[in-house]
Amino acid sequence: MKISIIGTGYVGLVTGVCLASKGHDVICVDQKQEVIDKINNLITPIYESGLEELMIKVIKTGKLVATTDLKSSVMNSEISIIAVGTPFGNDKIDLRHIEKSAWEIGSILMDKEHYHVVCVKSTVIPTTTDTLVKNVLESASGKKAGDFGLTMNPEFLREGKAVEDFMYPDRIVIGAYDNRSFETMKHVYEGFFDAPIINVNLRTAEMIKYTANALLATLISFANEIGSICEKTKDIDVKEVMESVTLDKRFNPRINNQLVNPEMINYLKAGCGFGGSCFPKDVKALISYSKWAGYVPQIIDATIRVNKEQPLKMINRLEEILRTLKGKKVAILGLAFKPDTDDVRESPSIAIINSLLEKGALVYGIDPIANQNMQKIIPEDRKSVWYSTDYKEALKDADAAILVTSWAEFIDIPTQDFSQLMKTLVVVDGRRVLNKKGLEDVGVMYIGVGLS
Ligand code: NAD
Repeated sequence: MKISIIGTGYVGLVTGVCLASKGHDVICVDQKQEVIDKINNLITPIYESGLEELMIKVIKTGKLVATTDLKSSVMNSEISIIAVGTPFGNDKIDLRHIEKSAWEIGSILMDKEHYHVVCVKSTVIPTTTDTLVKNVLESASGKKAGDFGLTMNPEFLREGKAVEDFMYPDRIVIGAYDNRSFETMKHVYEGFFDAPIINVNLRTAEMIKYTANALLATLISFANEIGSICEKTKDIDVKEVMESVTLDKRFNPRINNQLVNPEMINYLKAGCGFGGSCFPKDVKALISYSKWAGYVPQIIDATIRVNKEQPLKMINRLEEILRTLKGKKVAILGLAFKPDTDDVRESPSIAIINSLLEKGALVYGIDPIANQNMQKIIPEDRKSVWYSTDYKEALKDADAAILVTSWAEFIDIPTQDFSQLMKTLVVVDGRRVLNKKGLEDVGVMYIGVGLS
């Protein structure tokens, strides 16, 4: 099929590259010239494992082109997939980019004779597609929904595993305005192995995405809350508690006497909180939507409150030990919101660094690939903030180290490096991945989230 994708960020580019690799003719459109230039120079504007190789392949075979020219892209495709950002601002979802994109596509559809399907892939609150998007498309095109198709096809990929998740989806949810829209959209996913295709209405598709994210975020905050109780009680370690709880066969079944270890149990581990471009904004958008719709949510509201406090607890515990953080050099191991991505959006490291700076500390952040993105949020000034990729530089003469992101390279740091390089031997493990006993054996004071 001929597919245009509007918005070439994480979701748009991964979608475009993967659909092109499945044989579709894809046009990736973005309003930012620099994004398009990078793609055309065979460089991915974002880091995602396996993406660049696949992108180069599909560009070279002519299956994917990138442009800022929306008009020719819509005219020369059968489906337009909207994958623009839907940030959270002023206490609700900001649908500005969706509205603009729908208006631009609608204006082009006015002159298009052939049937065209518009698909919303961005995460949008329930009723967005069948009210805002539909109304804007109708006003801009002078046509009625039905003359053009309308679908809502949420994306469930995880950053860091985006290509794999897109290629091997658990399910493909297609919310459709009518049967013709659904049947057309289904062809996009032909050959996607055995993934079930879920045919629902537009607003159910929107709600499925929010529910999935709210549930996973709530699991994390639940584990963190249990961790906070453990921290207040001597000799209870949340790690032992949660590991044992999740051995229940309802969480972790055995097949042929082997534990399945489903990914879900990773969300039931205490840490310094969730971040990223989705969980925080999506849960907040769902809360705001729910209130607007007439229900004041309890559980997901607490999910956000627990998560907001979680990173700052690391600082409080450090302050108790060092007494003051003023003038203290603190190494931050990891800036990305999780390993294998360069995304720092809403990363717990931001709250941690800001709090340290407020308290007069000197921050030395290290990350294998996220330094550049962090620079845009908290710039390096080389007076109180430094960034590097070399953990030895960060640990040298440090008064404390806080592990924020569980990158493999940090887990593998030899315990002697902490004891030999640091000035004061205090390590806060915000993900419970470091070798507690090994660190204590070389004289390091180990502080773990969920452990008194
Ligand atoms: P992003 O910010 O990385 O990319 C959005 C892109 O859209 C940007 O490059 C921007 O320049 C472009 N854009 C905005 N308005 C445009 C317009 N009118 N015309 C052309 N281009 C335009 O965003 P993202 O992380 O890819 O997220 C996109 C959507 O997908 C969001 O709704 C998000 O919630 C959802 N989502 C994201 C993920 C994820 O892991 N990042 C996963 C699932 C769903």
